[in-house]
Amino acid sequence: MKKPGDTPPAELSALELSPTTNADLCAGCSRCCETVSIEIDKPRTNHEYDQWIWVLHHENLEIYLEKPERWYLHIESRCAHLNSQQRCDIYGRHPVLCREYDPRDCERRAPLSDIVAWFKTAEDLEQWMAKVRPAHYKRMMAWRKDTVQAPPRADARKDRATAMARALITIAEPAPRSPAREAVLNARAPKQAKRRV
Ligand code: SF4
Ligand code: SF4
Repeated sequence: MKKPGDTPPAELSALELSPTTNADLCAGCSRCCETVSIEIDKPRTNHEYDQWIWVLHHENLEIYLEKPERWYLHIESRCAHLNSQQRCDIYGRHPVLCREYDPRDCERRAPLSDIVAWFKTAEDLEQWMAKVRPAHYKRMMAWRKDTVQAPPRADARKDRATAMARALITIAEPAPRSPAREAVLNARAPKQAKRRV
């Protein structure tokens, strides 16, 4: 007789597991509703490595590598439909991707043994390249050195802010008027005052 916690027969696919079985298998865990992983292109060229290094300069974005070679972008982000009881609020109309995810061989049960490297920062990826792909690392570093330096974005923003401040000062402080221009404006002044009454 089937007891709670029994593993369902292996021949059943994830889509054939009942909601109760799914809930039993996932009891106390909601990990896969709190992260997003998206497969990304394998880097080979300087531009491709540079792109993922740029991504890793951003907060909450990580990359991992599986064997055989598959690269993933990993984002810590809780699904908006995971409720306070750690259950799916849209169960029954949740994405097929969620339905097909099999809790019998998910990351909770099977250690993610296929993962061979995890990069939390750009430095992690650069260090990995230096160690595992030294030729690519050397080529990328030479390419970086040879590429024209642009000002860092922070400085560029500062330059823009200074230019904007100068423009505002110019608007606030118009150029001194010539005596002829002063005379024209004085002649118009009573008419303008009259209109405002
Ligand atoms: S499928 Fe696995 S990782 Fe996802 S909630 Fe269930 S037990 Fe946790
Ligand atoms: S839709 Fe439901 S099952 Fe899918 S990630 Fe969100 S809470 Fe989890």
